[in-house]
Amino acid sequence: MMVGMPSLTRAEAVQRATVLTVDGYAIDLDLTGGGDTFRSRTVVRFAAEPGTATFADLEPAELISATLNGVPLDPAALSGERLALTGLAARNELVVEARMAYSNTGEGLHRFVDPADGCTYLYAHMFLDGPRRVFACFDQPDLKARFTLSVTAPEDWLVAGNAAHAGRDGGRWTFTETLPLSTYLVTLIAGPYHVRTAEHDGVPLALYARKALAPYLDAEADELVAITRQCLDRYAELFDVRYPFGPYQQAFVPEFNFGAMENPGLVIFRDEFIYRSAVTDSERETRATVIAHEMAHMWFGDLVTMAWWDDLWLNESFAEYMGTRVAAEATRFTDTWTTFAVGEKAWGMRADQRPSTHPVAPSDVADTQLALLNFDGISYAKGASVLKQLVAWVGDEAFLAGLNEHFAAHAYGNATLADLLAALSRASGRDLSTWAELWLRRAQVNTLRAEVRVDDAGRYASVVVEQSAPAGYPTLRPHRLGIGLYDQRPDGTVVRRGRVEADLSAAEPGSSAPSGGPGDGRGPATARTEITALAGEPAAGLLLLNDGDLTYAKIRLDARSAEAVPMFLPLLDDSLARAVIWAATLDAVVDGEQPVAGLVTLVLAALPVETDVVIIEDVLKMARTLVDRYATPETRPAALELVAQACDRLLAAAPAGGSRQLAAARGLIGATVDTPRLRGWLDGDDVPAGLAVDADLRWLILYRLVVLGAAGRAEIDAEFARDHSATGEQFAARCRAALPSAEAKQRAWDMIISDTATSSRLIEATAGGFWQPEQGALTAAYVSRYFAEMPGMMEIRTGMGAERVAVAAYPRYAVHPETREYAAGLLATPDLNSILRRTVIDEDDDMRRALQARG
Ligand SMILES: [Zn+2]
Repeated sequence: MMVGMPSLTRAEAVQRATVLTVDGYAIDLDLTGGGDTFRSRTVVRFAAEPGTATFADLEPAELISATLNGVPLDPAALSGERLALTGLAARNELVVEARMAYSNTGEGLHRFVDPADGCTYLYAHMFLDGPRRVFACFDQPDLKARFTLSVTAPEDWLVAGNAAHAGRDGGRWTFTETLPLSTYLVTLIAGPYHVRTAEHDGVPLALYARKALAPYLDAEADELVAITRQCLDRYAELFDVRYPFGPYQQAFVPEFNFGAMENPGLVIFRDEFIYRSAVTDSERETRATVIAHEMAHMWFGDLVTMAWWDDLWLNESFAEYMGTRVAAEATRFTDTWTTFAVGEKAWGMRADQRPSTHPVAPSDVADTQLALLNFDGISYAKGASVLKQLVAWVGDEAFLAGLNEHFAAHAYGNATLADLLAALSRASGRDLSTWAELWLRRAQVNTLRAEVRVDDAGRYASVVVEQSAPAGYPTLRPHRLGIGLYDQRPDGTVVRRGRVEADLSAAEPGSSAPSGGPGDGRGPATARTEITALAGEPAAGLLLLNDGDLTYAKIRLDARSAEAVPMFLPLLDDSLARAVIWAATLDAVVDGEQPVAGLVTLVLAALPVETDVVIIEDVLKMARTLVDRYATPETRPAALELVAQACDRLLAAAPAGGSRQLAAARGLIGATVDTPRLRGWLDGDDVPAGLAVDADLRWLILYRLVVLGAAGRAEIDAEFARDHSATGEQFAARCRAALPSAEAKQRAWDMIISDTATSSRLIEATAGGFWQPEQGALTAAYVSRYFAEMPGMMEIRTGMGAERVAVAAYPRYAVHPETREYAAGLLATPDLNSILRRTVIDEDDDMRRALQARG
């Protein structure tokens, strides 16, 4: 979206859909001209109520001509990205010729010049409202149409689109007509892309990446194709409709803002997924999950599309749930639910506890800009978690039957949440309206707390689960919950002795019944449920609430179990159980209930023996964030040293050349202050056996040296000369911004605030290196400048690019009351850009927690 420009409102979309039916688009692009623009010719055929008026969406650099039913339109008909169309006939043909601008923000038609070889690459990313930057359109999800694309490109380029190639004549590429698609799902790639093809079950497969990545794509192709095949097969088993969109092409493109985008027939991924350096198995797992996630969208999102953006969450929640599930069921990555439990859910819960929290299913998304703001951890992670809970509640068979009924009823059309709930209710025989109200229409997260009484014989006298709601959000929810009993065996290992499933209802007899909404003036609601099945059972060493991670809630263990965590956690054999315990522990530290010092002690005790690499990576990442923000300048060095020691021990224990070794090395590089050791690794001295100090690891080492003042600009330049790639360029930008000199900070800040010639991705990398916990004095003057100058930055950048820069540039290590005062001052500004407002509200809430934790 163009910030500050009018975005389509729901009322306008509803109105336009009542007068129009779009039959098809013929889009003809000429990409051969030089300069910053390309030529676009669109023919749209559509039916309308005769005599009515409407508008098309169009954001050209130059409108060359427009005709409606053969009659030229006055250029003045274009105003504010809208082309007014009046006097419509029953059948209409709109022809628009325009010059359109390439983008460098990952939106519209993005153009990238590869520093490795000077080659130019294009890709289209239309979500949310990019289509008007590429072709004239009626851009809203419920005006689906068939698209026929043709492209003229330089002769040595390859062009691909949603549909199969129809023909090629030199630089002229034509494509077959697509099935009905929403405008935001139209895409193409163009450039000297390297391609690998395959076929599966009648579906043509293709993989694309830049030429500079060709050897890496070739090395990864077998795994990518295998996962694609496994997921296609699994979806064919689960869903009645087979994959409908012809070819299944996957393009890996540069400077992409998201993980991937589910364009039918041509999914676009960020090309960081084509590895040029060693990666951990959890990174491969993430890639497999993303492949499965995007494929889920082919049915949910692409075949059946939300009618309006207020159901955008449903697309993402569904794809996140199905992607995690199908990756676990069909690929070698069987532990994706562990990853989900330890990292993904924390993302959702953090978003859900901020002042900007909103229901999973918001009912008031007035325009596309608001839709973008709601595109967060609540849409993805909480929504997916809630769907997992729904499946536990209604059963898998009913869930799948309801889905298939939904697909059959709305294929190639649009549907709403109400349509899906109706299908699921029919299939399950249960009325889901109360469930949906409590889980989907109300914000925030409940806390489940175990209270345990043990008698003299060592048996449970009672086990009670108390559900509570936070102040201002007095909603309690029905939970289907697993409760695991863990004991230490004589051989030292900790195993699950048993597990019960219990239903917590939203209102127990004698509880303060939930009622009202935010601001009804009542205190927090609570309800207690006695787990009668456990009464009289021998008390376990550790009683784990939410064993199996079926529900979405904050978990607090009983005192006896909490005491056992430091001893049990390193010995527990179940990775999902460890993930649930770690997530609860980290959450308690985030909430200030447990000190960072205790966390790093647990990290030192448990992490060196941790076998699941995703737990290692997530715990290290979170521990590092908490140390950097919650520890004071006085306590931080010691806390960081414990993290470094944990990594060092893990490094010594991990098998050579494996994922744990790499995760440990990365953690150590980021935490250590032993610069001679890091320098040695760069020079090949004392490198742990099996650890590849490859291009990416070299950059990580150099970055740490730069932050610590042990390497300078000349070394950054030398490293970029050695690795003159797109990735190298981003690392170099981050390193330059991290240099501890006033001149380097000034230069980086100027880029962040005013440089639009450089791509959003490089600006984001620059912002990512700017603030360092070690450089508080050097950057102190920029804290107030953030709040003074960010509104101007939002004027010169668009949508997602602007948001990412605003987040990356936030002074998050300036943990002082003044930072909050500046934030309050900016938030008091009338007409503050809504994306910036949301960013500041969220970051300021993290600042509040950090200040509280520091005491
Ligand atoms: Zn998605």
